[in-house]
Amino acid sequence: MSTGQIATLVGPATVELQEYDVPEPGPGAVLLAVRRANVCGTDVHQWHYESLLLRDAGLGHEFVGEVVALGEGVSTDFAGEPLALGDRVVPVYYLTCHRCPPCLRSEFNLCQNGLAEWKLKPEVAPHFRSGFATHYYLFPGQYFYKVPDSVPDETVAGANCGLAQMLFTIDQVGLAAGETLVVQGAGGLGLYAAAVAHERGARVIAIDGVPERLELARAFGADETVSLADFPESADRVARVQELTGGVGADLVLEVTGVPASFVEAIDLARVGGRIASVGNLNAEATVTMTPGFVTRKSVHIHGVLRYHPWYLHQAVQFLARRQHLHPFEAFSDRSYPLAEVTDALKAGESRSVARVAIVP
Ligand SMILES: [Zn+2]
Ligand SMILES: [Zn+2]
Repeated sequence: MSTGQIATLVGPATVELQEYDVPEPGPGAVLLAVRRANVCGTDVHQWHYESLLLRDAGLGHEFVGEVVALGEGVSTDFAGEPLALGDRVVPVYYLTCHRCPPCLRSEFNLCQNGLAEWKLKPEVAPHFRSGFATHYYLFPGQYFYKVPDSVPDETVAGANCGLAQMLFTIDQVGLAAGETLVVQGAGGLGLYAAAVAHERGARVIAIDGVPERLELARAFGADETVSLADFPESADRVARVQELTGGVGADLVLEVTGVPASFVEAIDLARVGGRIASVGNLNAEATVTMTPGFVTRKSVHIHGVLRYHPWYLHQAVQFLARRQHLHPFEAFSDRSYPLAEVTDALKAGESRSVARVAIVP
């Protein structure tokens, strides 16, 4: 029996490469070899022990893999496409139990058992439940979709987190042609949001502090950019967005920074009666001071959006096949590290200098 490796969190900001036997997939399961995994902002937070549930777990959830073994009864992906050894697939990184209260309300993105496997220590068989690893075990019922040959690994590696998340978020909160979207943060999520909003005919204003990311935002369909270097104060950024929207404000403000203060700023950036999508802030302990009266007076609608309905990953793959030639999706992961250098990859991901760094095991 051959062995594989998995990057396991064993303490705050402490990762260990552990080695385990590569499992045979049971009935309904699929074994993948990981081809390319991105370092997402959430991985950096998990690395710093900010996820209570995933403190002893493996790291990595944004990746593309290749089918190396099919369990009994598996002959297609979750769109009915025939599946064979060697096919590239992207997995939904959480489970949907179809039995818990959120699943019974068809809120599959909120499944209470979504992390039931991932949260386990990798020493528990079948070991490979996360993406910074040589292998990944797809459990029975875990959604996954085949990647068309026309879409390269570099382009599709971020589909199962960032892109699916943005397609779902924008559908949940709504964005019509001609409306203005303000994106707070032009990292992976912000760039995907710009691309999705661009296709839907909305006007996009991206806010970020890193010049290269603002440049990328334009390449992904942003019409205007607001740099934190030029507008370091919140009030100045709000004034700039007012100016860019004829004194109206944004129809939709999308928070994908993970910076608590940006939630408060979103309320100021939104127009009267506008919408706010809170996606980036996930920390359960970070706090912020705000004036609830502004929410009432402006009648803004605030939507928290966690994860996505699994089939949005299928939409994400189709979106890339359709739109990949219009935006530099491959520029998302412009720096790659071998699995043995996972800590360096996490540090580079944390520095926020590029949209994504990748691990190529
Ligand atoms: Zn992610
Ligand atoms: Zn459930």
